[in-house]
Amino acid sequence: TYSTTYQLRKINGTQVKVPVGLEVEGTNILGLVVFAIVFGGALRKLGPEGELLIRFFNSFNDATMVLVSWIMWYAPVGILFLVASKIAKMQDVGKLFTSLGKYILCCLLGHAIHGILVLPLIYFIFTRKNPYRFLWGIMTPLATAFGTSSSSATLPLMMKCVEEKNGVSKHISRFILPIGATVNMDGAALFQCVAAVFIAQLNRRPLNFVNIITILVTATASSVGAAGIPAGGVLTLAIILEAVNLPVNEISLILAVDWLVDRSCTILNVEGDALGAGLLQSYVDRTKTQSTEPELIQVKSEVPLNPLPAATEEGNPLLKQYQGPPGDAATCEKESVM
Ligand code: ASP
Repeated sequence: TYSTTYQLRKINGTQVKVPVGLEVEGTNILGLVVFAIVFGGALRKLGPEGELLIRFFNSFNDATMVLVSWIMWYAPVGILFLVASKIAKMQDVGKLFTSLGKYILCCLLGHAIHGILVLPLIYFIFTRKNPYRFLWGIMTPLATAFGTSSSSATLPLMMKCVEEKNGVSKHISRFILPIGATVNMDGAALFQCVAAVFIAQLNRRPLNFVNIITILVTATASSVGAAGIPAGGVLTLAIILEAVNLPVNEISLILAVDWLVDRSCTILNVEGDALGAGLLQSYVDRTKTQSTEPELIQVKSEVPLNPLPAATEEGNPLLKQYQGPPGDAATCEKESVM
């Protein structure tokens, strides 16, 4: 709800009613999201001193997830009654089903465009490799994502396939994929925007430019917070609806059809992670071949030098040991170590 007061002001000699102090009642979700991001940055800056608070928030989050998992047990019964009450209140039930069908179609189409065209195009632009060959290699995890509706459940299989079939090294896949399964949710962000617009239209609430930007920003942030479990994104959809003052109880409609939308959503979530890992691998491969670092050499000298110390992480002792002029074939013999 908006509360506005007006003041009479004289502009160019005429009295004009000017609105002052437009404020929105309710939770300032966008403000909270911005504060959370800045606060997280500040905690990171604190280093070890901030760890206590980070652990507190982590365990608070875990406890909330346990509560949510209990609630999810009786959620089907709750959804049944919420949807039934919605249908009973509707004058035109056929219209509700048509608009729900359009919502599902819009989500599936959006996911298809993003997964088949946009993500492969980004991969191609940065790697100049065939993205569909990469996608063929991860067909089994994509099918698993479709079947389980869970990025977390798909993670082990995805790691195996990107490593064995797409040649992504272990240290990249095991770093990127778990992070991706937790924070990178293209599919969730996409369906949350569609769901918010769908609920606004269902309630005949026009959305202005600021509302649309708010939906985009909060969907990006809330998809990061969504867990990689079935219907994880629907729970954080409440944040977006709150941010633009839409009725949160309409989530029941979205939940009722989420068993289908969530499948394509999860495929997109895991596909984005895998393509990200592939992209990083290709970047690492390219920088390795273009590296300007001096070639490592091993020195064999007839004049006894001090025994070579063991290689350390900081630097290769072989480079320090070699003092003679390059190409001095009389005293040393080069051998490529790499
Ligand atoms: N089910 C999705 C996933 O596991 C999360 C979501 O509901 O958006 O990635």
